[in-house]
Amino acid sequence: MGAALAGWADPTAFALSCGLLGLLVGSFLNVVIHRLPKMMERDWHGQCAELRGETAPEHEPLSLARPRSHCPGCGHAITALENIPVVSWLVLRGRCSACKTPISARYPMVEALTGLLTAFTAVHFGFGWAAAGAILLIWCLITLTFIDFDTQLLPDSITLPLLWAGLLFNLSGTFIDLASAVVGAVIGYLALWSVYWGFKLATGKEGMGYGDFKLLAALGAWLGWQMLPLVILLSSLVGALVGIALIVLAKRGRNVPIPFGPYLATAGLLALFWGKELTQSYLRLM
Ligand SMILES: [Zn+2]
Repeated sequence: MGAALAGWADPTAFALSCGLLGLLVGSFLNVVIHRLPKMMERDWHGQCAELRGETAPEHEPLSLARPRSHCPGCGHAITALENIPVVSWLVLRGRCSACKTPISARYPMVEALTGLLTAFTAVHFGFGWAAAGAILLIWCLITLTFIDFDTQLLPDSITLPLLWAGLLFNLSGTFIDLASAVVGAVIGYLALWSVYWGFKLATGKEGMGYGDFKLLAALGAWLGWQMLPLVILLSSLVGALVGIALIVLAKRGRNVPIPFGPYLATAGLLALFWGKELTQSYLRLM
């Protein structure tokens, strides 16, 4: 026991183990990113049919565990050997082993990103509750980023438990005292809620979704109200830069909705790692 604990306390071993775990979890996050929106959509269709008094359409059962991952081109079931994070994609050169349909490079990217960020978090926080909490937060933020990017949705089934988990970790002040965390959750929600209604009253358009309020509430619960100005500032900055780049480079219309969740998630990540330093430097600027 003592030896095992000493092993974990070794920073390099801890970072490497976390990185490996991150790669494996990244592979699972790909499944969540791909299937959760589909599961939600089926659920809505079922409920709509029920309201209209029709029977819900029949589907093959779909959950995070079932069916096993398969090639969308030929139905070839992905074997364990073809499911090794990053490595399998490289060995297969990004193609299905049976029919050579290209496999999106996003799968190994999500795995590599999750592995690297998890290892970095282990290095940044060191062995302890803070690392455990931060890693959980990062996994959720990665998932939300890609789901929002694909579907403009931030599922309640991730944002709400994330909020509770933040409060739970801060019961003992892992990241911030509990009072600041609770106030952070409330203010986080209300801040974007008022922006939403202000924008809607002024322009008649919906600038963002309720999921964004819940995500900022969750970030408030993890990081405390003190970090909210920084998170809003950073997400608007990153959002504006990417938005301008998209309009200029991709000639994307100004009215095509750009999801806000990825920017909130990126800003939350920066605030998690360097929030205190960043706040101090921008306060000095003012
Ligand atoms: Zn195939």
